[in-house]
Amino acid sequence: MDRFKRQRVKMVDSQIRSRGVADIRVLKAMEKIPRHLFIDEGLIDQAYNDNPLPIGERQTISQPYMVAVMTEALELQGSEKVLELGTGSGYQTAILAELAERVFSIERISLLASKARKVLESLGYFSVVIRVGDGTYGWSEEAPFDGIIVSAGSPDIPRPLVEQLAVGGRLVIPVGGRYSQTLYRVTRLSENVEDVKKEDLGGCRFVNLIGEHGWRE
Ligand code: SAH
Repeated sequence: MDRFKRQRVKMVDSQIRSRGVADIRVLKAMEKIPRHLFIDEGLIDQAYNDNPLPIGERQTISQPYMVAVMTEALELQGSEKVLELGTGSGYQTAILAELAERVFSIERISLLASKARKVLESLGYFSVVIRVGDGTYGWSEEAPFDGIIVSAGSPDIPRPLVEQLAVGGRLVIPVGGRYSQTLYRVTRLSENVEDVKKEDLGGCRFVNLIGEHGWRE
């Protein structure tokens, strides 16, 4: 086992499994994906630490535990079509690519999107489609989605995202203030867009979701 693999196994054990994430597919994906390749070389020794890290452009790669909690909440079985908002480093995107059939990801900052694309291609994730733009509009041409995951904090739940959720589909999103939010899972129960179940998954702290249905810059 190489040193990074050893660090990943330890990360999953001590930060993720021990805190209650039990979905075996999620745990396996996190043991597999080389998180250290999604950050700058200067931070490589911190790649498997229990915290977010800067990725440039004033953005961060999310804490591994948060990635695990959000991914588990999507309850992916392998056949799903998933939309991600906030590609960032592309790390969460790689986890989704392991667990779902098709992954669409939107990133506001083109530099981050192109860096993420490069790493994902180097790891063989050719089927992921990344687009640069304001993800709060969703991706209507590809809707409906079985899962939508938002890795930036929003003042409200962007309505287009609920509209683009398949019946039975799940949206995982941090909602609240600019500096702290609550993580919600929203499950669409019927064709009626108002007919949703909303579950509180706990407190969190994300960078801002900036866009038409998010925060103003
Ligand atoms: N999952 C990523 C998280 C990156 S931080 C990772 O672990 O690396 C959140 C990202 O959301 C940032 O890259 C930011 O630029 C992006 N973002 C913010 N508002 C957005 C919007 N409206 N549409 C798409 N991306 C957005």
